Amino acid sequence: MRALVIEDEPAVAGFVGKGLREASFVVELADNGIDGCRLALTNDYDVVVLDLMLPGKDGFKVLHDLRRGEKQTPVICLTARDSVDDRVKGLDLGADDYLAKPFSFAELLARIRALLRRGRAMVGNPIVVSDLTIDILARDVRRGGTRIDLSANEYRLLEYLARNAGCVLSRTMILEHVWDMNQDPMTNVIDVHVNRLRKKIDARFDPPLIHTVRGVGYVLRSAES
Ligand code: CA
Repeated sequence: MRALVIEDEPAVAGFVGKGLREASFVVELADNGIDGCRLALTNDYDVVVLDLMLPGKDGFKVLHDLRRGEKQTPVICLTARDSVDDRVKGLDLGADDYLAKPFSFAELLARIRALLRRGRAMVGNPIVVSDLTIDILARDVRRGGTRIDLSANEYRLLEYLARNAGCVLSRTMILEHVWDMNQDPMTNVIDVHVNRLRKKIDARFDPPLIHTVRGVGYVLRSAES
């Protein structure tokens, strides 16, 4: 699942991002309203966590622009100001839920899961590539009907590859989306995880779905595409 966190306080952004990654989300962060709004309008996220007090463009304006742009992505607003007025204004503008700071990550995650269950987000679920099926809400991966257990990192990597099936993903893109690193750490972290994923997804099944594109990265595709 893919989440966008628009939050200018590094400590909050860090703790929300880390928690969501541990819960198998692919997370993108924006530290101001302008970048956040642009990302939310261009990409398809399953959920947006939106702080209201933001530099550039405040959360209310981001929400307004998002809904005006016909983006129905579920949005949870975060705010330091737990006033009824803010809450009403946010909900009127199309927020799906509201959380006052300070909050526990467990509560945020529970609310995100409740929103996802309500189903508005579940366009494109499950992801199906050949006989591989990924139910992103249940985090259930099957190939040829056989259930496959994956670690959190393996799962994020597979979901990222599968959402972009047929497109070659560079090592940089994979590091950025799956590990949230902007630089190659000079380790073989990607290769190690791709190999593990291959053992689980491809070794016992035909045809292989994960392909190496030499010098570039990896692509997940079925034989016929
Ligand atoms: Ca803020």
